[in-house]
Amino acid sequence: MIRLEGITKSFGNLQVLRGIDLEIKKEEVVSIVGPSGAGKTTLLQIMGTLDMPDSGSVMIDGTLVNRLNEKELSAFRNRHIGFVFQFHQLLPEFTALENVMIPAFIAGVGQQEARAAATEILDFMGLTERASHKPNELSGGEKQRVAVARALINHPAVVLADEPSGSLDTHNKEELHQLFFDLRNRLGQTFVIVTHDEGLAQITDRTIHLKDGEVCKE
Ligand code: ATP
Repeated sequence: MIRLEGITKSFGNLQVLRGIDLEIKKEEVVSIVGPSGAGKTTLLQIMGTLDMPDSGSVMIDGTLVNRLNEKELSAFRNRHIGFVFQFHQLLPEFTALENVMIPAFIAGVGQQEARAAATEILDFMGLTERASHKPNELSGGEKQRVAVARALINHPAVVLADEPSGSLDTHNKEELHQLFFDLRNRLGQTFVIVTHDEGLAQITDRTIHLKDGEVCKE
């Protein structure tokens, strides 16, 4: 599903990733943990083609993304990768349903089809009642679940999540974590999750420990 080989990345004199090799298999829920500054977000951004490594290769769903130009990369990313961030980043002027539809529009899906797909995903997540609400009318947990729905709309190969439950209270946190496993069990969705949450890291299929830009333990 995802294969990284020999990934290095520096920002100026700071070498953040020092030769990362790793593989994520289909339907895995994998966590990436490590101390602050270890390079977790940088690695996730490279996995998601939001940033390019200085050296090494990134293969996602059979495509060597290093070979794509900017335009191809952006189309590839929208089609094959879903993102969930710590803060939902929903657009405030749109309803939950419209927010979920946006990546489908960008991928060229027609309005009716996008609406039907977004409705189906929100139903699946038990958010039907909240579909016509704008983000400021949703709870923190609901907003994050809508953000997950948005990440799923184009049936991505993988969802990459960066501290997805970092802004949630314990109850909503546990509900969101459970949702990841439900989506894996029921849809076969693959997840890679950067987290400081030890409870989540303990229940994922595999945990990748990053330290000083290297995988120190799996
Ligand atoms: P945290 O757990 O605190 O979020 P992290 O493990 O996700 O940390 P990264 O965000 O990947 O760490 O950052 C790794 C290092 O690279 C840090 O020292 C950070 O300051 C630096 N860094 C990240 N992005 C940039 C950038 N665009 N320009 C310069 N330095 C950067």
